[in-house]
Amino acid sequence: MATQRLFFALELPAPLQQQLVQWRADNFAAEAGKPVEAANLHLTLAFLGEVGDETSRKLQLLASRIVQPGFALDLDDAGHWPRPGVVWLGCQRAPRGLLQLASLLRAQAARHGCAQSAQPFHPHVTLLRHAASQVALPARGFHWRTDIHHFALFASNVTRGRTRYQALARWPLLSSGE
Ligand code: ATP
Ligand code: MG
Repeated sequence: MATQRLFFALELPAPLQQQLVQWRADNFAAEAGKPVEAANLHLTLAFLGEVGDETSRKLQLLASRIVQPGFALDLDDAGHWPRPGVVWLGCQRAPRGLLQLASLLRAQAARHGCAQSAQPFHPHVTLLRHAASQVALPARGFHWRTDIHHFALFASNVTRGRTRYQALARWPLLSSGE
């Protein structure tokens, strides 16, 4: 059976991706880790793993029925997880809409056989991989803000050693007032 490596995520607008790349270059030493390329900066909501077509279709149908509010994302926190070697951007206080959406998608995924990590969900945008064991993080006080109106399902493909994500479908979140 053909499978694809899938995950639900929030896309970041291209101008924000570019701004983050510049900010990262200005705020992290070159030896801090391997920068994630601009187009790959995203926030994962639910990781599905290797999924067959039928499960993918079912999860897409459920995703299309989700009625959840959009929200303002304010990336105002940075951290370092030494074990996976990741430096990330996140939120000091994650928006409720983000947590609700992730929790719904993760529950639907789990019910369809996509095992979810037992660790609490910590929404984050990975900035650096293969991070050094010690990384100097930028002081708090920065804010990268964007309004989130959609979420998407991505396929993750490795071609010639490069990981690329392909958006397979996008679904809207409610605007305030809807
Ligand atoms: P690489 O090809 O180097 O692994 P990647 O980690 O960006 O690149 P994927 O491993 O396909 O690509 O992961 C896609 C997204 O899902 C990323 O946000 C990643 O952090 C997340 N992810 C991957 N594996 C898991 C997992 N087991 N549990 C939770 N999230 C995961
Ligand atoms: Mg990975």
